[in-house]
Amino acid sequence: MDRIDRVEAMVVAHRLQRTFHFSQWHYDTRSVCLVKVTTRDGVVGWGEGYGPAGVVRAGVEFLAPLVVGEDPLQGENLWQRMFLRSVDYARRGVLVAAISAIDVALWDVRGRLLGLPVSVLLGGRRRESVRAYATGMYFSEAAGQIGALAREARGYADAGFSAIKMKVGLSVQEDIANVGAVREAVGEGVELMVDANHAYNLREAVALARAIEPFRIGWFEEPLSPEDYEGYRELRDRTTIPIAAGECEYLRSGFLQLFRNRSVDVAQPDLCAAGGLTEVKKIAAMAEAFGVEVAPHSWGTGIAIAAALQLLSNMDVAPGRMKMAEPILELDRTENPLRDELVVPRFEPRGGRVDVPAAPGLGVEVDEALLGKYRQA
Ligand code: CA
Repeated sequence: MDRIDRVEAMVVAHRLQRTFHFSQWHYDTRSVCLVKVTTRDGVVGWGEGYGPAGVVRAGVEFLAPLVVGEDPLQGENLWQRMFLRSVDYARRGVLVAAISAIDVALWDVRGRLLGLPVSVLLGGRRRESVRAYATGMYFSEAAGQIGALAREARGYADAGFSAIKMKVGLSVQEDIANVGAVREAVGEGVELMVDANHAYNLREAVALARAIEPFRIGWFEEPLSPEDYEGYRELRDRTTIPIAAGECEYLRSGFLQLFRNRSVDVAQPDLCAAGGLTEVKKIAAMAEAFGVEVAPHSWGTGIAIAAALQLLSNMDVAPGRMKMAEPILELDRTENPLRDELVVPRFEPRGGRVDVPAAPGLGVEVDEALLGKYRQA
């Protein structure tokens, strides 16, 4: 039997050429904590955590001794061991992201040990490619922002994307103008989602939602504070736009609150934060039982994209029908060489779809030579 020999956490970072903004903050650097698990027989698996990279790294270093020396095939048992060691202090947040990073790496290891892609280990491949939406259209401080947003949106449509997501959350009036410009730029054939990153109170969110209903919005993401479960339910009652949230939610217990309160139409667990593939598979099953759609949040390197693709290949979409509905992949399009360069194959969308890797594990290889270029510690 093979055993886990090492769990290494490393921060990789890239200073952006152009700073961009969303409703809460700005990005001038992209950084992430990667996790490399190596077995005694030399099998290597990769994962990553979503959240402040240095804090996630500390979490991984705290948890690593719990899995070193253990059998990597004991996935659920190892997950439970990490969870029980952290639950007293961290039922949400970056320690759960650290569990997620190790969990994803262990799925990669198991797939490689068994010679099977993770999607098969999850229960089978329902689809070989997944429709993707382009995440972009962030704010900048440059003049002429509305024109830039419209041009960027048109670029995604021209590249073949059938769905795109833009930022809102500046102010209700500015948002209405920006959304109108983007809808006009892409025409009626492209699905358009908006994301406020919890910028608004209920009154503002209702005002924005009603004003942009004529622009046929696919979903309104994180309109309100992630703590405001009741507000989400009331907003759902007051607009025809589907409501999405969940990138700030963790574990089954967190999503249960969203579902019991009827807070969302679309749940967005992040595989690298909400508890890893092990936990998000369960969250997806729970969502189905509550009649909630699942569209995972994804904002990382090619490792995170590969993990999302493996889950989405396997994921059931309820209710069944002859012409089945499909889940959708979030594909960040902002400047990020950590996403584009660190793994092969690169995820290049074709006709707005991305192929699900069929090689063992997550199905990607990390370019360790390039890793040195971005590695901080
Ligand atoms: Ca978001």
